[in-house]
Amino acid sequence: MSTVLVLNSGSSSLKYQLLHPDSGEVLASGLIERIGEGDGRVEHRAGDREVRRELAIPDHEAGLKVAFDLFAETGYELAQAGLTAVGHRVVHGGEVFYRPTLVDDEVLATISDLAELAPLHNPANRTGIESARRLLPDVPQVAVFDTAFFHGLPPAARTYALDTATAERYGIRRYGFHGTSHEYVSGQVALLLGREPAELNQIVFHLGNGASASAIRGGRAVDTSMGLTPLEGLVMGTRGGDIDPGVLTHLLRNGVAVDEVDRLLNRESGLKGLAGVNDFRELRKLVEADDAGARLAYEVYVHRLRRYLGAYLVELGAVQAITFTAGVGENDSGVRADALAGLERYGIAVDPERNIASGRGARAISPEGAEVTVLVVPTNEELAIARAAVAVVDG
Ligand code: ADP
Repeated sequence: MSTVLVLNSGSSSLKYQLLHPDSGEVLASGLIERIGEGDGRVEHRAGDREVRRELAIPDHEAGLKVAFDLFAETGYELAQAGLTAVGHRVVHGGEVFYRPTLVDDEVLATISDLAELAPLHNPANRTGIESARRLLPDVPQVAVFDTAFFHGLPPAARTYALDTATAERYGIRRYGFHGTSHEYVSGQVALLLGREPAELNQIVFHLGNGASASAIRGGRAVDTSMGLTPLEGLVMGTRGGDIDPGVLTHLLRNGVAVDEVDRLLNRESGLKGLAGVNDFRELRKLVEADDAGARLAYEVYVHRLRRYLGAYLVELGAVQAITFTAGVGENDSGVRADALAGLERYGIAVDPERNIASGRGARAISPEGAEVTVLVVPTNEELAIARAAVAVVDG
């Protein structure tokens, strides 16, 4: 049976998964952190075996080698694993890449050029691809882009009302992110409802550390909350989402340095900024303890969700499915209930018992026979990347 290795390379981290693309069975997976920082950490899982290691990992290639050794140690010699492809998550595809793409030198160079638009992500993605190419020269490498699902956003949804020449010069438009997740989850919803994607209008909330919403008409994304960068839109763990751009010029004029503003927006805002914690489980505990900062953070979070929900309901006209996914969306029943509270007149309701029922699989949480089906669907970006990679290799 064929297998695919999926890699998600961050600037100092590497997430990997070895899986069967047909069944979705995960043979082994792991996370390598603190690459290049002298005190690397590895967590590797294969079946019920879990291996933890601490060792210096100078670069991504060294990290991959450690992963390959661990595959062998836990029963999966890569040379014998029938690897069909390596699938790479690449954050920014810019205007150029709008479908999974077989990597060659030119593709790699273009991914590098796009680093200007995604300075935190694309260089790391490139490093991951280069390392995998060196270590597995005979295996096709496929890049799967986080922006691809949103490439065809209608002009009205993708355009910022800026001076056109400036926007063109700097590649400024709304690109959208988390596309692999929005596409996968909306596809799962269609399967679950026994309908063709083309017949459905859907809203998907991907609520993890990063968070985004999308409006999908007949299988195509028509709007999404993230923009030029993954900073726009919903409130997230450490990013605040929508903000008056005047706040930035105000800070800059008051002498706050550009890098400091960047750090504020990416690392010190969102739930962390308002409540001091970015992990939603901790936020929930503080809310339950009636902590004032946490309560406000939670209210801003839910208020923003409802604002996007309203916008997308109007944009789509009629909606058949609203779906929650990712860490918060899949696990926090309170967010789901609060985001959709009081919308019965629009055919939208959450059944309290279904909403809190335990279970990890995809499920409907709206009342039987409701006009709009509300669902919880676990996302699986690795599986989506693996399948996309196989599709490219099979032509
Ligand atoms: P990433 O965006 O990094 O892939 P995830 O989708 O794993 O992140 O989401 C991480 C978020 O999900 C964290 O804020 C975490 O607290 C939250 N989360 C995970 N499990 C739960 C839970 N049981 N209840 C509430 N929130 C949870």
